[in-house]
Amino acid sequence: MSRTTNAALSLSMCLPLALSCSLAWVGTAAAQDATSLRKANRTTASLALASRQNAVDLGFEAFKKKVFKEPFPGGVYIVNGDTPILDEAELREFYTKEIVQEWKSTRFGLPAGAGPTIQLIVDAPGGKPNVWDNVAKKAISYCVSKGFGADYERVKASMAAAAQAWQEASDVRFVHRPELDAKCSATTPEVVFDVRPVNVNGQYLARAFFPRTPRPQRNVLIDASALKLEPGKLTLDGILRHELGHTLSYRHEHTRAESGKCFEDKDWVPLTSYDAFSVMHYPQCNGLGDWSLTLTSLDKTGAACLYGPAPGFVLDPAQCPKL
Ligand SMILES: [Zn+2]
Repeated sequence: MSRTTNAALSLSMCLPLALSCSLAWVGTAAAQDATSLRKANRTTASLALASRQNAVDLGFEAFKKKVFKEPFPGGVYIVNGDTPILDEAELREFYTKEIVQEWKSTRFGLPAGAGPTIQLIVDAPGGKPNVWDNVAKKAISYCVSKGFGADYERVKASMAAAAQAWQEASDVRFVHRPELDAKCSATTPEVVFDVRPVNVNGQYLARAFFPRTPRPQRNVLIDASALKLEPGKLTLDGILRHELGHTLSYRHEHTRAESGKCFEDKDWVPLTSYDAFSVMHYPQCNGLGDWSLTLTSLDKTGAACLYGPAPGFVLDPAQCPKL
């Protein structure tokens, strides 16, 4: 996830976006009154619409220049704050489908006046859901790089806590392989994915992958900025809950409607509804969002529908959509 876009309240102070803005806002959110929030969100809505139109007008090459690309070997493009795009061909496809066509056809994918959808969204290229199969879902193994140094134990604990949150709802199993931590890299073949530190100067707090991502990019990368958060609701546990949601195929909660606003951190300030609290909802896309990034009951139900309920988790199958 990324923190470089900011809450609506800090709009005037945070453009151009400064890393300190979003966290400075966190502690004061509860004290803001609903009227000012609504007003600020209307402002962000109009800015987001203008930015999107600009992206369409400027064309792909200009869009590409604005997309962050990780500055290290194997680095990927990052859209929607923390979503990896493997190469230029895929970025062009994203631009064509998600920016240009979506703009032309629906204006954020929603009819005017409609609110965002509050449900877990699954990665489904070409309409085909891309998820772990019944065997793979029980052995999503990972290593945690010793390169975290003094933060190694903390990262290990946060990964375990984040995994546990999803495992309590759905029948999946993350498996830490500590014996591989000393040689944990993008090419460690014995694990499904690796967890490693990076320094991208706050371009994102962390980024993950989807089940369809090839092994070299199947990483959870944690920026140094995520390891020195100020005390508050935003925690490493929460960030990793969000990122592990991506590894299970969950896309950002705010649907195509809002994802369009968030494709480029530096230029976009999104709007969203006031009640979208999913762990997969981008907090900075939400004027009233709770930065604790915990699983809501809808998150748990959606996860249980997709992968089957965890032992002890009560699920009414009638709640599940047909994928
Ligand atoms: Zn994300």
